[in-house]
Amino acid sequence: MDQHAADVLAGGNCRMGKQTWKLAAALLLATCGIPSLGFAGSAVKATVIVTNARVYTVDAKQPWADAVAIGGDRILAVGSKERVEAFRNKNTQVVDARGKLVLPGFTDSHFHLIEGSRTLTQLDLNGTTSIAEVQERLKKFAASHPNASWITGRGWSYDIFGEAALPDKKFLDEVMPDRPVYLVGYDGHTSWVNSKALAVTGITRDTPDPPNGWIVRDAEGEPTGALKEDADDLVGSRVQATHEEQLAALRLGLREANRAGLVRAICLGNSIHLVDDGSNIALYEELLKSGELTLRLYVSSYEGPPTLSKQQVDAVLKAKQKYQGDWLAAGAVKFYLDGVIESHTAAMLTPYSDDPKLTGSLRWDEAEYKRAVVELDKRGIQVFTHAIGDRAVRLALDAYEDAARANGTHDMRHRIEHIETITAQDIPRFGKLGVVASYQPLHAEPNDDTMKVWARNAGPDRASRGWTWQSVAKTGGHLAFGSDWPVVTLSPWYGMQNAVTRQTLAGKPEGGWLPQERVSLEQAIEGYTLGAAYSSHREANEGSLEEGKLADLIVLDQDLFRIAPSEIHKTNVLLTMVGGKVVYQSPEITVGSAK
Ligand SMILES: [Zn+2]
Repeated sequence: MDQHAADVLAGGNCRMGKQTWKLAAALLLATCGIPSLGFAGSAVKATVIVTNARVYTVDAKQPWADAVAIGGDRILAVGSKERVEAFRNKNTQVVDARGKLVLPGFTDSHFHLIEGSRTLTQLDLNGTTSIAEVQERLKKFAASHPNASWITGRGWSYDIFGEAALPDKKFLDEVMPDRPVYLVGYDGHTSWVNSKALAVTGITRDTPDPPNGWIVRDAEGEPTGALKEDADDLVGSRVQATHEEQLAALRLGLREANRAGLVRAICLGNSIHLVDDGSNIALYEELLKSGELTLRLYVSSYEGPPTLSKQQVDAVLKAKQKYQGDWLAAGAVKFYLDGVIESHTAAMLTPYSDDPKLTGSLRWDEAEYKRAVVELDKRGIQVFTHAIGDRAVRLALDAYEDAARANGTHDMRHRIEHIETITAQDIPRFGKLGVVASYQPLHAEPNDDTMKVWARNAGPDRASRGWTWQSVAKTGGHLAFGSDWPVVTLSPWYGMQNAVTRQTLAGKPEGGWLPQERVSLEQAIEGYTLGAAYSSHREANEGSLEEGKLADLIVLDQDLFRIAPSEIHKTNVLLTMVGGKVVYQSPEITVGSAK
């Protein structure tokens, strides 16, 4: 275990609070020239200097700077080159940014690290635009993994099935009749399996639907191979990865995250068999102890209906107490209130436009959900609620409002995840109630899935209030941005482009879809930095480049402020630094000693 990890686990002697640190820095600056009063007998000097940069700090007091001085894992100074040079000595490492843009490191506010990392070792179906393409990739993958007992994959989208908008086992049987196949949809809400997988797991016409799950059946009652929501678990729970496989996948995931410019991820507990519970934290802790954790993590635990027990609350409180470091923190709870609009499982106030018999349904009894939120709020536990339909969004807002009133709490920063549709009257409630709007900007990309399936199901009225980022921000709501990886790529640059354009990469539709809901580049950057930090109560230490905060920053290959918004997705990260340490570096950037 390295010293840093030891400190974090021991409760953090090295984690000087921001105020303490500022005081220490001020004292040392005041006594500059009297080395005996400094740390270890020398005046405060930078371990690293990032210089020759265009630094956009996300600090309103000083938005732009040329250089950053870092001492250990904290920022000593941000400002002009001259000011920062004063912190240099012969041992200082120098990052020459060559005039490039430097930003605070990015936080992904809605991330599924375990599942996402696992996809890096599975069949990747992202970007497939036809059933034939899925079949091709499946055949290739199976041929190159002859010993895998299951073929698992992820990333298909509903629009490839045309009108039906749901997968069918027959397409998989055509190319893979004898090995079980399990392919999760891009959004994680529907799975697609072949006949062999149904046979192996014993799913037949007589198998009842599990709670909050649907085995899709044909006119004769035969399972079609589409499994909605928790029916996924009938198969998903049978294809668990081993401990070693999970660690290996996580190492890949961390590397990808750092390469994309992420320094922290807020991990949302997900489906039951891959829940971010204690067992996942143990994996993260193992990586922390071996010095391999290069992404700061804030982990929530998924708690499912029908009720929240005292034991569940106690377990979360225990995790919150145990894990509260800058690298690994726990103590939030994730609830699912509904599903997704594409499969009519999101809970709507009025019927779906394409099928008036359907309004979706809530996964929780309303009163039980509200009771659970009040209880967690009372115990100081932050709540993240998945709510996509306007009915689910309203219930989450109501529950948070009730909890604050019942407990007299404030500034809990409970969050709602996704918020794909909302009524006009609920928009200002985010600002009014202090509820954080956690959005994944790339989900609103006006691609075929959104414009053909999503918009058809939602109908024109609801679709006119799809992902209302700017309306929520204008009424005082806090925005936190993320990806929902592996639902979409973990690269924040695609999401950021859509946040400011609401156009596909091909520039469609012209002028952007609901252009009034676009955000500015500055707002988009803030959503991935200071806004994300705020959404996890970490803005005192993270989210902007300011003296005393953690030294988490990135260097980019292109200047976002000087390019067309349609170019943002092409951004490459040249260097990612977490806590003063370089965790990713492209060959284009050099880190050298001071001459
Ligand atoms: Zn998610």
